[in-house]
Amino acid sequence: GGRGNRNFLPLEYTAITEYATSIIDNVRPPPEEIKMKDRMLQRISDICKKLVPGSHIIPFGSLVSGFATRGADMDVIFAHETLDPQPSSMESNIPVRLANEFLKRGFEVDLLIRTRVPILKIKTPSHEIKFQPSSPSTEEPLKEAIQEDPWPENISCDIGFKNHLGITNSHFLRTYSQYDKRFSEMVLFIKQWSKNRDLNSPYFGTLSSYGYVLMVAHFLINVVQPPVLPNLQLIAPPHDTPTSELMQEGYNIWYFKDISRISSGELLPSGKNGMSLGQLIYEFFQYYTTNFNFVSEVVTIRTPGGVMYKQEKGWTSARERVGEMTTYQDRYLLAIEDPFEISHNVGRTCGGQGVRRIRGEMQRAAAIIRKISTQVPLEATTRQA
Ligand code: ATP
Ligand code: MG
Repeated sequence: GGRGNRNFLPLEYTAITEYATSIIDNVRPPPEEIKMKDRMLQRISDICKKLVPGSHIIPFGSLVSGFATRGADMDVIFAHETLDPQPSSMESNIPVRLANEFLKRGFEVDLLIRTRVPILKIKTPSHEIKFQPSSPSTEEPLKEAIQEDPWPENISCDIGFKNHLGITNSHFLRTYSQYDKRFSEMVLFIKQWSKNRDLNSPYFGTLSSYGYVLMVAHFLINVVQPPVLPNLQLIAPPHDTPTSELMQEGYNIWYFKDISRISSGELLPSGKNGMSLGQLIYEFFQYYTTNFNFVSEVVTIRTPGGVMYKQEKGWTSARERVGEMTTYQDRYLLAIEDPFEISHNVGRTCGGQGVRRIRGEMQRAAAIIRKISTQVPLEATTRQA
């Protein structure tokens, strides 16, 4: 059997494991949804190609990482083969032209420019709402509505024009999710919990799903003993590794990818972690409410040992940053280091109230799990931690 570092009785977590499993089964997208989204990607890509020859759409986020939930938004990047990638897309005003293409098809369209990188949010039309003529606020008047096969209703897609590191980190997370299925199970559960408790709104002062994924990864790689996941960024690259796998945009993007070619014993010398999903979820909440210091510490997955302090990263006071089209605030109330873009705090979207609410909800969750996990023999309640 598996061995945990403490003597927990397996029975204790049966209720939470069963509860979490039922939540996860419910939030996983059914096969039809996956097929429908593939088809939508193709159609969106075709629209982009027609507007800008040589362009295409690259999926990332939960479409790639294996953390997709039912009805989740799609994340894609608009890429261009010939013109050099990133800055050019803004100069030629592609986001606005693309926004108009989708407006003509009856999509709801929102171009966000106050974000770190511009994002075009599009949402397929509801079938009962017929196409509405262009609103006066759009830059160029729409010539005519485009009639074509109906789109599936109310599906949202975020189109980014930069952030190719987002593609890299999605594949990175997928590699981890293939290593141990408890990673994606925990992520799906935590994502659902964060949405239910209204803690997953990066635009309104709390944390993105990506931030929660990194919190789970930090816990599984660096906290729980023995670890559930190895640190794939610490395995040295073979000598013949192409530069494209080592560096991107000036950041070290190396991580070990061939997990199927190596036995897990080699990667995790401390032995296999046999904890149930329920126990891992409980320990996750416990760690972040009692061990992790939100004031001084940084959540990191790359660093050996996983302990880093805000002080050593210079992440101590809020500052203004100049972005593409606007300035934005960098805050360090909740510090989560991006695995590749290590100068970027993924938790910067969190305000003081957001952090307090996240911590409060974690305490509440831990307390509920303790309450539903009381079916444990009496003598075990006096055990030593
Ligand atoms: P959801 O189903 O809630 O949309 P998701 O798994 O797609 O979840 P998102 O939070 O949408 O996760 O993130 C998708 C991608 O966007 C991530 O892989 C990451 O590259 C990028 N991303 C999201 N939030 C941030 C952030 N705060 N900083 C940097 N990159 C981010
Ligand atoms: Mg997403």
